[in-house]
Parts: sequence; C-alpha cells; structure tokens
Amino acid sequence: VAPPPAAYLEGLNPEQRRAVEATDGPVLVLAGAGTGKTRVLTTRIAHLIATGRARPFDILAVTFTNKAAREMKERIGALIGPAGEGMPWLGTFHAIGTKILRRHAELVGLRSDFTILGTDDQLRLLKQVIAAADIDEKRWPARGLAHAIDGWKNRGLAPEQVPAGEAAAFGFGKGGPLYAAYQDRLKSLNAVDFGDLLLLCLRLWRENPDLLGSYQDRFRYILVDEYQDTNVAQYLWLRLLAQGHRNVACVGDDDQSIYGWRGAEVDNILRFEHDFPGAVVVRLERNYRSTGHILAAASTLIAHNEGRLGKTLRTEAVAGEPVTVTGAWDSEEEARLLSEAIEGLQAKGHPLAEIAVLVRISAQMREVEDRFVQLGLPYRVVGGPRFYERAEVRDALAYLRVTANPADDLAFERIFNTPKRGLGDATLQALHGLSRRAGVPLLQSARMLVETEELKPRARSTLRALGQSFARWAKLLEDQPHTEVAQTILEESGYTEMWQKERTADAAGRLENLKELVRSMEEFPDLGGFLEHIALVMDANDAEGGDRVSLMTLHAAKGLEFDTVFLPGWEHGLFPNQRALDESGRAGLEEERRLAHVGLTRARKRAKISFAVNRRIHGMWSSTVPSRFIDELPEASVAVIEAPAGYAQGPSRFDRQAPPFGSSYATPGWQRAQAATAGQQDSYGRGAPAAARRGPRQIDGTLVAKSTGAAAAFEA
Ligand code: ATP
Ligand code: MG
Repeated sequence: VAPPPAAYLEGLNPEQRRAVEATDGPVLVLAGAGTGKTRVLTTRIAHLIATGRARPFDILAVTFTNKAAREMKERIGALIGPAGEGMPWLGTFHAIGTKILRRHAELVGLRSDFTILGTDDQLRLLKQVIAAADIDEKRWPARGLAHAIDGWKNRGLAPEQVPAGEAAAFGFGKGGPLYAAYQDRLKSLNAVDFGDLLLLCLRLWRENPDLLGSYQDRFRYILVDEYQDTNVAQYLWLRLLAQGHRNVACVGDDDQSIYGWRGAEVDNILRFEHDFPGAVVVRLERNYRSTGHILAAASTLIAHNEGRLGKTLRTEAVAGEPVTVTGAWDSEEEARLLSEAIEGLQAKGHPLAEIAVLVRISAQMREVEDRFVQLGLPYRVVGGPRFYERAEVRDALAYLRVTANPADDLAFERIFNTPKRGLGDATLQALHGLSRRAGVPLLQSARMLVETEELKPRARSTLRALGQSFARWAKLLEDQPHTEVAQTILEESGYTEMWQKERTADAAGRLENLKELVRSMEEFPDLGGFLEHIALVMDANDAEGGDRVSLMTLHAAKGLEFDTVFLPGWEHGLFPNQRALDESGRAGLEEERRLAHVGLTRARKRAKISFAVNRRIHGMWSSTVPSRFIDELPEASVAVIEAPAGYAQGPSRFDRQAPPFGSSYATPGWQRAQAATAGQQDSYGRGAPAAARRGPRQIDGTLVAKSTGAAAAFEA
C-alpha cells in the first residue's frame, strides 16, 4: 500500500504532481499563465528536500526577479518549515552569476571585490574608450556602442567571437576593437558590467573544466522559472551547468515571452528538447488563477498571434465579472475614474494590496500617482522609482527649484555639472568654501567667485554663464507662463539635448518623462504652487509596507497576481507601442500582444481595461484610436462601460452607454465635448488643452457638427 502523499503534494493536480515527482532527468513544463508553474517549482524543491533526495545546498533555482526569489524563499520556508540546513541557491541569473564569479574572480583576471558597473558608469567608460580611439562621439554615441555590446553579451559572444560584419557596423568599422578595449578597461578597473556576470562565468568554466565539473557535481538539481525569457548567454550557462546530473526542470510559457527586445529567445524552449533528449514534457492546462471571463478574454486575445507553440487553457472557476472596457475623455479623467473605482472597491472592503495598476510605459504613472496622492490612496511603485523620483525628473526639478529659489543649494549641487559642462570637484569645493565664509547660497557664491582669479578661466566663464542663465530664467517667470519657462530652461540648459543625443529606448523614455513633467505643471497656477505640490507628493507614501495599491509596468508584473487589475492606456500607439511596431513590425506587434496577455492574466477576479480619447503625444494633444487589442477581445466576456460619442459612430461594437466605472454623468456631455474638441483640433494652442482636460461637463462650447483632423479617425 502506497503511503499517503505528503501534505505539500495535496491539492496538486495529476500533471502538476508528475512534474514535481519526475525528479530525475530533464523536465520541461510548458504551460499557460496561472496553471501553477511556479507552484510546481516550489513544491518540487520542497519534495526534493523532504524525500532526502537533495539537501538545500544541492539545489539551484533561478527566478526572473529578486522579488520572485524572495517570494519563492518564503513559500519554500512555509512548505518545509525551518529546515536548519539553509536554503537552496536561489536568485536571478545575475545574482547567482555574481556569487560564482566572486569565488573565482582571479581566474578571469579580477579580484573578488570587483565592482559591478551600473548603466551610468558603463556609459562613462565607453565614452572614454570611444574618445581614446579618436572617434567622434557625437556621431557614434556611447549608448549605441553600449547597446551593441549588451547584445553581444546577451548572445554569449566575447570580443573575438563577434561576427566580423556586426563588429564593423559601429564607429567606422571599429566595433570589435572598441568592445575589446572596453573589456580591457573594465579589467584594469577591477570591474564588470551586467552582461559580464554570465559571460565571465562561461569563460571561467570553459577554461577550467575541473571547476565546471565541481559545479556540475554540486548542483544536483536545477530549476528555472520564466524560462521563455532567457537569452542565449543564460541558456548556454544553464546548459553547461546542467550537463552533469541533467536534473534540470524549466517552466515557461511562450505566450508570456516579453523580453525579446532584450535578447530573450523563445527558441530556447525548442532547443531544450533538443539539448536534453528524453526530457519529460508536462503540459498544464488548468488555470487556477482567473475567473472564466478573464481567461476567455486573455485566450482569445493571444489567439491572434501566429508564432505560438499552442496550448489549451481551461478553468473550473465561475465566469465571474466580465472584463470591463472604459473610455475616458482624456488621460486625466482616466486616472480619476480609475482612482474612484479603487476607492469604491476599498469602501466595499477590498484590500488595496490586492489591486494593481499596470501601465505600458512609466510616463503613464505620473497622472495616476498624482491622483492617488490627492485622494490619499496609499500606493507603491513596483520595480522602479516613483515618477517624481526618477533621475531625469529630479534633475529637471532641480533646475526649476533653483530658478524659483536661488538659495536651494541641494538642487544647485545636483545640476551644477549636469549636463556635463566641465565643472569639476575643485570648482564645487571652491564654491562651498566661499559659500561658508560669506554665508551665502552656492549660486550667489558662484556669482562672486567668477569675479575673482581663483578659478581657471574656462570654469569661470562656464560658471558665469550658468549664473546668468538662472537670473534670466527667473526673470522670464515674471511675464511668461511657467510651463513655457520650464521648457526654455530644459532646452537652454542643454538638459533635454543631453538625452536627445542618446538615441535609445531608455533615453526616449526619459524624454517622455520630461514632457510629462512639464505637462503636469499646467495644472498649477505658478511654479511655486507646482513645487509645493511636488514636495507634498515626495513626502507622501514614504513608508513602505501596509495596505497599498501596486503600480508598475506590465513588464514588471510578470509572475504576479492580484484580485483586481487595472489596465489603462489601451490606445493605438501607446499599446501596442509605436516604437515596438516601428522597430520590429509584426514580431513587435506580437510581443506587444503577449504583453497584453500577461497583463490580463495577472487578474484573479477583475480586469479593467481603459483608454482615453485624447492624449498628449509628444507634447501635442491628439485624438486617439482605441487599441486593436480591445477589438480582439471576445464580446461575450467584455462589458463596455462607457463609449465616447465619436467612437460610437464607428463600426465598432462599443456603442452601449453606461456610467464609467460605476460613477455617472450623462452621455450628452460626452457628445458635446467630443464635438467641441473635434472642431478645435487644428487650432489647439497652449491653454486650450487645459480647458479641455477639465472634463466634458465644464466645456461650454457649442456643438460643432463636423469633426476634423485626428478626430475623424474615430469615424473611419
Ligand atoms: P504565471 O505564468 O503567471 O507565472 P504560474 O503558472 O506560475 O503563472 P502560479 O503562480 O504557480 O502559476 O499559480 C497561479 C495560482 O494558482 C496561484 O495562486 C497558485 O497558488 C494557484 N494554484 C496553482 N496550482 C493549484 C492547485 N493545484 N490547486 C489550487 N490552486 C493552485
Ligand atoms: Mg509563475
């Protein structure tokens, strides 16, 4: 008679159990969202330990984020209790790579206390390398080289392994030598970048077979979550390590592959069966997370993708609430409706911790955060700083603060050499010295210092110009709108240009945030009022912990789940994102769709999609077209909460009328506002949008029958 199953196995379905109990040999779990893949991994670890097959330190488990690693540790702790024997090696590829590299650093020419360079340092170094090679950095920006090198490293390529054609594509054919020179510089600094953490492990193992053997021996069981998002270097790393005992279990879902832009390769799923012949492949089909409507919506949406391995997903849960789609007048109203809906849920006793707002790009967070702060809704931003804490936003704010208040030394110090204007530490020290002696703020001491001989002529003239700029900007504030002055400051200071020069997705996002910052100022009468608001926002929400709404990008939401998920900004151009479409065409669209699928499948009980009819894109108001993803949802599982009037005239099925998110205002307001704005589209100047954004009910324009410009898109 077989003994009863251990407690931790209870409740698993037969396929899950198979994946847990197939302890020896390669295992691949290929299954959709919410089917218990992560649960299988944690249970598998518990099982290995409980049955004595492995001690914790024989196990290596790879997660996609540090957060996921922490959660997995907690779950394992709960399953096996205080084991006393420690925990498995559990972390991201990078974290584990670091740990290994530190132990054997000398074998790759480093000391064990090597530093891991962040993006900023990496760029600084690359600039030096480019300059040393006598290449014009204006033509060949360091970011471009950084991108190329990251790409090579993601593919596991050391300098000498880069295909000649690719290496020739940068800096007049000097890509390869620059990469090599960069690696030399890193080594002499006893430093590595992120990509090196894996690449150097690979080298370490290739050059030291005995060492590789000892690790292969040691990690008797290897587990990998979110396997679909591994890149080639990670795959090679894994394959080398797993060749020993070959007890490797990977779980993944091709429909959730969302890091192709960072070099992840879904093909690794296919390679697995090739490289580990005889792998047990388990498919899980029952979704335990979401109610019927949510699952139907997510499945129907993703069925529009062509490149899929194909899976079935079913649920035994109730159909539950339909997925809602809400049209808002503009993004501010969208943020308001969403916050009201959250308050509504809160009033009914729903914990805030079970609510998430998932955005496509981080600039979308600003309005949501502002609204939360206004309402006093506690929130946390997961996986990144809050909007006003982003580096570029803080830099811009520092300029504004000094303009408004020349005595703001902290702000002055932040930007006194940002963008780089050749002012070094010596100058700053001189400023501080004088400032202390004379008892005046730094900016004032700068003005005094340039009248002396203390500084070199170049620093003197730069500093003089800076002082004059601040005086001029402060003067502008007297008779120009503060938003325009802010714009001028960012341009004249060279700050915007600094990011414009760096043509990468990262820089583009920062530029978007800067525009969003200027835009947010419109809501305040003057600069002082705005800065006061910022101070309050920065102060609010300081404490972590407690019951809070989670705000994050869709990318950061992978693997997580919440009762209620809000998905704002489903508009063409924003989501699917134009940049992804431009850069990768059809493949880009499919990755965007997978991202939408990830978003929907985070929800247990409620998924609430919304779009705004008007959004400011690149500083200009324009009418938007709802995302094609909305049209790809199954009608039977979707409830349309509000339809902007113009949109209803189109062929779409979004023609029913109901109050948005349960609040109410009359439809005629919508129609009138829509028509009125449509007429103003061409002449939208400064000031007009602010009026429009106050919301339809406050617009007293007369009906304009004919819509023009972008608004016509709704009727096409
Ligand atoms: P994703 O693809 O989004 O990462 P996943 O496949 O990793 O999802 P899990 O997060 O492991 O799925 O599980 C989803 C939810 O279903 C969790 O709340 C989990 O506890 C629950 N669950 C998984 N298996 C079972 C089961 N056999 N019985 C009850 N609940 C389960
Ligand atoms: Mg998971």
